[in-house]
Amino acid sequence: MSEAAVVEAGRDFIRDIIQADLDAGRHRTVVTRFPPEPNGYLHIGHAKSIGLNFGVAQEFGGRCHLRFDDTNPVKEEQEYIDAIERDVRWLGFDWGEHLHHASDYFEQLYEWAEHLILAGKAYVDDQSPEEMRLARGTLTEPGKNSPYRDRTVAENLGLFRRMRAGEFPNGARVLRAKIDMAAGNINLRDPVLYRILHASHPRTGDKWCIYPSYDFAHGQSDAIEHITHSICTLEFEDHRPLYDWFIENLPVPSRPRQYEFARLNLTYTVLSKRVLTELVRGGHVDGWDDPRMPTLAGLRRRGVPPAALRDFVKRIGVAKANSVVDVAMLDFSVREALNKVALRRMAVLRPLKIVIENYPEGRFEELDAANHPDDPGAGTRKIRFGRELYVERDDFMENPPKKFFRLSPGKEVRLRYAYFVTCREVKKNALGEVVELRCTYDPATRGGNAPDGRKVQATLHWVSAADAVEAEVRLYNQLFSRPEPNAADFAADLNPDSREVLVGCRLEPALAATKPGEPVQFERQGYFCLDTVSRPGRLVFNRTVALRDTWAKVQGGKGG
Ligand code: ATP
Ligand code: MG
Repeated sequence: MSEAAVVEAGRDFIRDIIQADLDAGRHRTVVTRFPPEPNGYLHIGHAKSIGLNFGVAQEFGGRCHLRFDDTNPVKEEQEYIDAIERDVRWLGFDWGEHLHHASDYFEQLYEWAEHLILAGKAYVDDQSPEEMRLARGTLTEPGKNSPYRDRTVAENLGLFRRMRAGEFPNGARVLRAKIDMAAGNINLRDPVLYRILHASHPRTGDKWCIYPSYDFAHGQSDAIEHITHSICTLEFEDHRPLYDWFIENLPVPSRPRQYEFARLNLTYTVLSKRVLTELVRGGHVDGWDDPRMPTLAGLRRRGVPPAALRDFVKRIGVAKANSVVDVAMLDFSVREALNKVALRRMAVLRPLKIVIENYPEGRFEELDAANHPDDPGAGTRKIRFGRELYVERDDFMENPPKKFFRLSPGKEVRLRYAYFVTCREVKKNALGEVVELRCTYDPATRGGNAPDGRKVQATLHWVSAADAVEAEVRLYNQLFSRPEPNAADFAADLNPDSREVLVGCRLEPALAATKPGEPVQFERQGYFCLDTVSRPGRLVFNRTVALRDTWAKVQGGKGG
């Protein structure tokens, strides 16, 4: 309740802190940054961070930098760098001149490492990673000092320079801060500042064979860029004392502060880059932009507009306690955004032919259909009615239960924008499957109303068999079958029915002119868009979201 109130006011604790800092004159302007590591594609969790960092900068008249946290060349690739820039822009944010890289600061960071060595606050450690791990202690036990901790300044400086010069193999030595091996906060137990890594970097090439740790690079990069509020997720709360230690012990040009907020978790979704990478590499999905992926590239391909994501992250707000957001909230934002802009069309996904026996063969007539029910400005289009039509297979039942109001033998229904029709006869094939319905129409009901005032209980969508275009339509469900998938064994929780491919769907001809990126509503079914593999003559549509939450119903039906 209190959280909802905060969201309504568009305020949260981060915005309150910024406002107080500006009011007190601690800062004249606000400077934030979004700091992705280019080791994967951005996902909807990142959209929350982007919306927050770029959002507060906009609201308070400051600026937000895009900074690649590119300190680990082994996992980082140009493909990811390009994708991240594309996705942040697509979300609707602009970093202007302020595209930065932690690697731009490698020389400065190196100098600052020497500064710590000269001050007796850093040393070269020759212990193996395993020895260091054992000496680190636990939450309840202090760590043990390294036997190399008391090396002289000259010895440390000499060894560190030789590390830089490439004299040692990977893992032979590290540079560590000399803080306190008995500190209650394990991050302060002489953290690693530099490690040896003979690896080529996408930007600095082979210039370096030692790379700074995240902790040593992050706060100092913030200080170099004069970031005022360094906003990150809660798992970095325990790193804050270390963040502050570096800022206090180095001659940095500004004094940024770190603030932590709760990361986004979504039901039926995994937002770990490790797992997303494994989904792609293991072939569980068709790449980073598979429409079932929670990546921005996947959501875009699925047809989710950036405005829906901005709306979603605003609605969920920013809090300090971790929680899991129902994925239905995302669908809500998507429907809200698409409802306003998507033109209405008719498409039959699982076609069943009907023949109107009392409609003359070879005759057609044009009917007017509204493009948008709430927006007369969207205009109308002509659709053709004729003797042979397709309706949805699910809209017919030969032996209907009591509450089934759609087509069944003897039943009259309305065809949208057209006429009342009555089912007279069911045709079956040798297997006993329904293949065609013979119907009659009432010519007096043109436009959808009976002059005698009689009512029907259902209005069905349909397409004219002679005019329809064929398409493949891909329907998506949750990628995972459990609300909180197990990230450690995610494969076991994959939903085997996450994608359903329908071929031979029949669409009204206007849909052949759909443009890439243009949302459409297939009446009574949901919002759809062209998939990136779609070509003229071989149309492929994705369902972005159904009109209603059918998934919840399915799950409920299973007693889950
Ligand atoms: P990993 O999944 O390996 O932990 P990451 O998601 O933290 O990586 P980064 O590239 O470091 O990946 O993230 C960039 C920024 O986005 C960070 O500031 C991080 O805190 C933020 N971020 C990442 N995931 C989420 C999330 N689920 N919700 C909100 N912010 C997030
Ligand atoms: Mg990270």
